[in-house]
Amino acid sequence: MSMPAEEAVDSSTDVSWARSLDEHDPLADARDQFHIPIGPDGAKQVYLVGNSLGLPTVGAKERVEIELDRWAALGVAGHTTGDLAWVSYHQLLTGSMAALVGGFPQEVVTMNSLTANLHLQMISFYRPTLGRHKILIEAGAFPSDHFAVESQIRQRGFDPTQSLVVVGPHPGEPTLHTDDLLAAIEQHGPELALVLLPGVQYYTGQVLPMADITRVAHAQGALVGFDLAHAVGNIPLALHDWDVDFAAWCTYKYLNGGPGGVGGAFVHQRHVADPTLPKLHGWWGTRADTRFEMATTFEAIPTVESWALSNPPILCLAALRASLDVFDAWGPMTRLRAKTERQLAYLDFLLDELVGDRVRPITPRALHQRGCQVSLRVTDQRHDGHSVQRALEHHGVACDWRHPDVIRIAPVPLYTSYEDIHRFVTILDTILR
Ligand SMILES: *Cc1c(COP(=O)(O)O)cnc(C)c1O
Repeated sequence: MSMPAEEAVDSSTDVSWARSLDEHDPLADARDQFHIPIGPDGAKQVYLVGNSLGLPTVGAKERVEIELDRWAALGVAGHTTGDLAWVSYHQLLTGSMAALVGGFPQEVVTMNSLTANLHLQMISFYRPTLGRHKILIEAGAFPSDHFAVESQIRQRGFDPTQSLVVVGPHPGEPTLHTDDLLAAIEQHGPELALVLLPGVQYYTGQVLPMADITRVAHAQGALVGFDLAHAVGNIPLALHDWDVDFAAWCTYKYLNGGPGGVGGAFVHQRHVADPTLPKLHGWWGTRADTRFEMATTFEAIPTVESWALSNPPILCLAALRASLDVFDAWGPMTRLRAKTERQLAYLDFLLDELVGDRVRPITPRALHQRGCQVSLRVTDQRHDGHSVQRALEHHGVACDWRHPDVIRIAPVPLYTSYEDIHRFVTILDTILR
């Protein structure tokens, strides 16, 4: 078969075409860097759930074993010995992580977990006053974010019924109108302390216009934070240039850091060395050169690391580092994004041709409003969506069900092949017959 042209992904529904697209995919070999689980039929799963838990890299085991061996050989001296000294191990990840989110190294740190980082950042960036006390979030926000925001409001003596602003889609529509979001920010303007939104909404897969949101919120005097759980490693980000105040993310989704892996945090340069910001302190935020003198005067590290509390989990960082190596080798994100756009076009085409209106994607169709996740509703009245999702699993397609009515699938450019997408759509078609 001839070289598929840029615009030609939708040439054929034949599996041979999928294979040809794989042959010409410049990222095809990245798949060999991952362990892919085996399905019930003995073949590799079609793994479309990397938006929930990314796959382990082949390199993860070695990176973790190196640290286990260093621990066995060195004991406590591992903290201070050699290039991999644990006291500064987290800094080995900073450059790669900063590149993924579009921040300077002094703006990015790998620490704690996502929800914990959001709380630590809200201590600094949610400073309600009687006049300006509201936090704006999206309807259907991930429960942990919702709880974190509500509890921060209460903690400061305010009442979520007065201080929490929730912006939703129009009735009967699945996703947000950007204009509504920006209008709500302007409407609550002088009362708005903080806008806390996702980069990519976990349920619908919608990408929000982070630069516009930040600009409009700043014009109203509000600060802006983003939860990047579903954005990092999925879409290109430019947090510094967009002027975002802060952001937090987890690393076990598109970043393949492993279950319960360490979180990430970004604070814009203009805030990192601001000594007036309220902050919860721990010994990992104080200067390393006096830390072990056990001084009890806090001397903030002049980077986002001053938000760090504890010495981080080295084994988790080691596994994550192996995945960041893969991103470094196969990136940058714009290159992964180019594959995502092609895979989305191919997926849309196959769904249109083979499945038609038996399912309806709720993820926006416009490319600038989507990452690699597509959330599908089963509209065929003869089938219940959750049973369809279970049948997919039974046929070796790993995907997930999100209450009340969505099947989420995510072709991840580093390890999902075009043939995987073809298999998914043909299996879905078979199940719906
Ligand atoms: C995955 C996810 C979380 C999970 O929070 P943890 O603190 O890592 O357990 C929180 N918020 C969003 C939006 C998520 O997608």
